[in-house]
Amino acid sequence: YTGKTGSELLTEKIKKFKVHEYQSVPIVVKEDASVYDAISTMFLEDVGTLFVVDNKACLTGVLSRKDLLRASIGNQDLNAIPVHIIMTRMPNITVCYKDDRIIDAAQQLINKQIDGLPVVKEKDNGLEIIGRITKTTITKAFVELIMDEH
Ligand code: ADP
Repeated sequence: YTGKTGSELLTEKIKKFKVHEYQSVPIVVKEDASVYDAISTMFLEDVGTLFVVDNKACLTGVLSRKDLLRASIGNQDLNAIPVHIIMTRMPNITVCYKDDRIIDAAQQLINKQIDGLPVVKEKDNGLEIIGRITKTTITKAFVELIMDEH
């Protein structure tokens, strides 16, 4: 018997959850894709956050639903506006790494008031996107924690 309380054991278990165990597939668009294309991709892929890459596949930006809604208000031609004009850009992107703890990724979502984080890997010319952590990811980890008890 370890002498640990139920809540201490639960805490230990949560702290062991790692990003790579729960990450989902990242959906990316190129910087020169149009706002129209990004909206289509968001619907087709059924995601709320898109990541933007340059022609070397390095992370350059993030597009949220509201970024695209904002760009759609007014009469602009959405086919004529490239996403790099409206995206949130590097170096202001909050990222995480595969071996980070889920609880730290969750803390970032709260602190930065965002819905998702790209999971990245450092390479020579920038950051390669290897996954995606979202509020859904965190909800899944939470449910699994409770349901796996029995
Ligand atoms: P929404 O804008 O639809 O409410 P978010 O809360 O995720 O969705 O996004 C809020 C703002 O933060 C948007 O402008 C978006 O581009 C930006 N954003 C989203 N994810 C990140 C991130 N990982 N790092 C930096 N900025 C982000």
